[in-house]
Amino acid sequence: MTLEDLAGHTVQRFVHVYGRQPRWIAAAPGRVNIIGEHTDYNGGFVLPMAIERYTVIAADRPVRDTNQIQFDSTICDKPATLDLARPLKPFPKGSWVNYPIGVIAGFLARGLNPGSFDAMIHSTVPLGAGLSSSAALEVATATLLEAITDRKLDPVEKALLCQKAEHDYAGMPCGIMDQFISVMGRENHVLLLDCRSRKPELVPMSDPSVTVLIINTNVKHELTYSEYPARRKQCETAAKILGVPSLRDATADALERVKGKMDEVVFRRARHVIGEIERTVHAAEGVRASNWPTVGQLMYASHRSLRDDYEVSCKELDTVVEIAESIGLKGGMIGCRMTGAGFGGCTVALVKTDAIDAISKKLAADYKKKTGIEAIIFVSRPAAGATMIKTDGPSRSFVRACSCASLPVPD
Ligand code: ADP
Ligand code: MG
Repeated sequence: MTLEDLAGHTVQRFVHVYGRQPRWIAAAPGRVNIIGEHTDYNGGFVLPMAIERYTVIAADRPVRDTNQIQFDSTICDKPATLDLARPLKPFPKGSWVNYPIGVIAGFLARGLNPGSFDAMIHSTVPLGAGLSSSAALEVATATLLEAITDRKLDPVEKALLCQKAEHDYAGMPCGIMDQFISVMGRENHVLLLDCRSRKPELVPMSDPSVTVLIINTNVKHELTYSEYPARRKQCETAAKILGVPSLRDATADALERVKGKMDEVVFRRARHVIGEIERTVHAAEGVRASNWPTVGQLMYASHRSLRDDYEVSCKELDTVVEIAESIGLKGGMIGCRMTGAGFGGCTVALVKTDAIDAISKKLAADYKKKTGIEAIIFVSRPAAGATMIKTDGPSRSFVRACSCASLPVPD
């Protein structure tokens, strides 16, 4: 479904529920991380791209001014109401409304009060699959609020506001990647993001002979929430022993020199992070040069490191990567790895565009045979970041009003 079709569908739902046309339509994409996993909280690099899956919010002022905000989502049975006359506080833990409330709180903290509005949310980003439906929801809300308050935020400030919403209101201590790419994504570009300096750099990826394939394993092992803090701690321990502020400042040689002073598990965790930061920088160079075999090899190496040293993979993710390796470069498979925090979710692969159909069929069939589970497989070009969509005259077709972030594009 194109973004324009998705906007049309969301508007239909808005009209059905609220009985009138919406005045604003905002959209923000999900993302997939090409390489650079578990590097963000170590001050390292990540290389995400925005995908052609979006969260759209259609909104309008209510018929009577109630000083309330009404949020409805096509995946929820009843809308949530916020009363602007009272101080905002989070809904019970786990409630989806906490993501938009956190963003509204960020605007209010800057003296930007949107006033009453009714909203309908619809999304094609799969929920909880590691493609960041949460950031898409936050960034779509922030984009909507920019339009309502008529105040454009700086892209970095906007991304950080959304990250804070996820920390403070959804209780998830995430890094900066998801919100940065959802705000700053650009068609035919991936984003090399330095998580320490927060400097984003767009890297062109427009070679039509190569396509990104996303394979959702359709499993989610509930280990992410308990294992994540443990990994963070192990990284901090390693950095302390190495005498550096974060693993970003360490080298593979320095790690080898202190091997005897550290627990074997801590050593492997650090080896993953230090290696992954290096692989991410090389992969960005590979993308820039359209050196696909090199990028593919770095993706496989990343997967092995996440599986063996960082131990955040699972049987289903490993199965997809094994099938990918069996297809090989000759069959059009350039590289494949798990993406996201781990223990389920998606893998990301680079494939030759003319082999997409054959590869998708083989991956689906072999994965089903080996695991008994249906994978969901789809392709995406690197997409644009958050945008407002306006209706185009009486025909009511939809067009992007603007791309909200304005990062310089490299030559
Ligand atoms: P991911 O970001 O990988 O998709 P998260 O667990 O971080 O997974 O975020 C998923 C949560 O975000 C959902 O459980 C829900 O609370 C919220 N969410 C995302 N998209 C929507 C939507 N369209 N409608 C309602 N809630 C949503
Ligand atoms: Mg998320």
